[in-house]
Amino acid sequence: MATLLSDNQRKVKLRPEQENAKRLALLGVDLSKYPSVYHREVYEPIHSRTDRTLFGPIMRGFAAQMLYQVPDPVMLTHIVTTRCNYSCGFCSFADTLNAKTNEMSLAEIEKTYASVGKNLNVIVYSGGETTLNRHLPEIIEAAYRLTPVQSVYIISNAWKPELLLEITHRIMQTCPDLHLTWSLSIEGPKEANNAIRYTKSSSWDAWQNSVDALEALKTIRERYDYDHLDIQLCTVCSPSNVEVMDDWYLMVRDILKPDKWNLNLMRRSVQMTGHDLPSFQERRAKRDLEPFEAKYLEITQRVKEDVLSGRLKFLYHTSTPEDGALKSAVDLISQEENRRTVVEDKPMFCCKAGSLGAYISSEGEVSGCEEFAHNPIENKSFGNLRQADFNFQSLWQGEKARTHREQVGKSRECRGCTLESQRNYPSILVSFNTLIKAKQLAGQIR
Ligand code: SF4
Repeated sequence: MATLLSDNQRKVKLRPEQENAKRLALLGVDLSKYPSVYHREVYEPIHSRTDRTLFGPIMRGFAAQMLYQVPDPVMLTHIVTTRCNYSCGFCSFADTLNAKTNEMSLAEIEKTYASVGKNLNVIVYSGGETTLNRHLPEIIEAAYRLTPVQSVYIISNAWKPELLLEITHRIMQTCPDLHLTWSLSIEGPKEANNAIRYTKSSSWDAWQNSVDALEALKTIRERYDYDHLDIQLCTVCSPSNVEVMDDWYLMVRDILKPDKWNLNLMRRSVQMTGHDLPSFQERRAKRDLEPFEAKYLEITQRVKEDVLSGRLKFLYHTSTPEDGALKSAVDLISQEENRRTVVEDKPMFCCKAGSLGAYISSEGEVSGCEEFAHNPIENKSFGNLRQADFNFQSLWQGEKARTHREQVGKSRECRGCTLESQRNYPSILVSFNTLIKAKQLAGQIR
């Protein structure tokens, strides 16, 4: 990597394709290993006339708030498996990974999606390792057929780049109106990443897989005109990578250049179980931050400055540059909210988990968020789909949901919560003040 940086500093004049070939060589990327970079299976598109714009769901969400009604969810986090072939200490399921395997079948998921309502705009597929559910493409296609979903995020450890390419070719063709985003996990430079992402075999190069997947996906986007595909990298800021975070940020920004880099903060419930850290209450009583929390504040502030100045590009492949700028601004606001949460400042918006944001576990538990669904001491699940004939609405509008919804944003789990896809994003969408702020911020992005 040092060679690449020094060549850049010397300003060696190379054509863009030469520059890219050199960059790939230095990153150790050999795309010829992956047949799906050069060939694809052909799939028939699923015919759909569904209106997938966000405007209708936002307006219905606003209207339901005004009328004190429960809206259908706009955003869903769907855990498709808690199995994983890696074993990372910062994982939200670190304590229970691979312990439960009674996953919902494709037929059960289809019945659920048919009753999820008319507002669903975004689904985040998470796990465990999502691609270990061999029905993942069919699950996404079911969502496309049965719901108005517009945007799907798949979080993956990228253990098998060829599989990610095959899934992408299929979804890009079968679901032509769907925006697909891969969020590939990577925790730092190669040595740090491969030490943190425990993979059972010491020769397994998890870092190379993530970087290969990033570059291979960028390449097929160009080659096959997949203009509604985004590829992001995702890093969890934790005690394990705090020391390398400065260098890592520069490498992501200046060399890897994903469409977006998500820096998540290791969540509080994991801090308590998987790491030898003082409890949240103890730490707050002293009002000092753990080094990884201080680093999160510092780096996310740099990200904001770099995005506004144009040094760091969040390249959303949206229909207009303005839409992309707005999405980037929403990301910056979400990180700002997390910074406020870490230092216990007043929140900018109320949590909408359980009303605009929904959560479904791999075994069919429905809830507002994963902290509510999996609290081992005081479980706040709205019920299990298997006991409700997979009728999502019967749980969403049921008595348990009413009770637990009242505790959203106020319960013990909520203190210090930085769940972006479950707390921040659904809430930003229906917060008038925050949307105005996002619009203003979008205007400042160069
Ligand atoms: S603040 Fe966090 S833990 Fe509390 S309900 Fe919202 S998403 Fe769940």
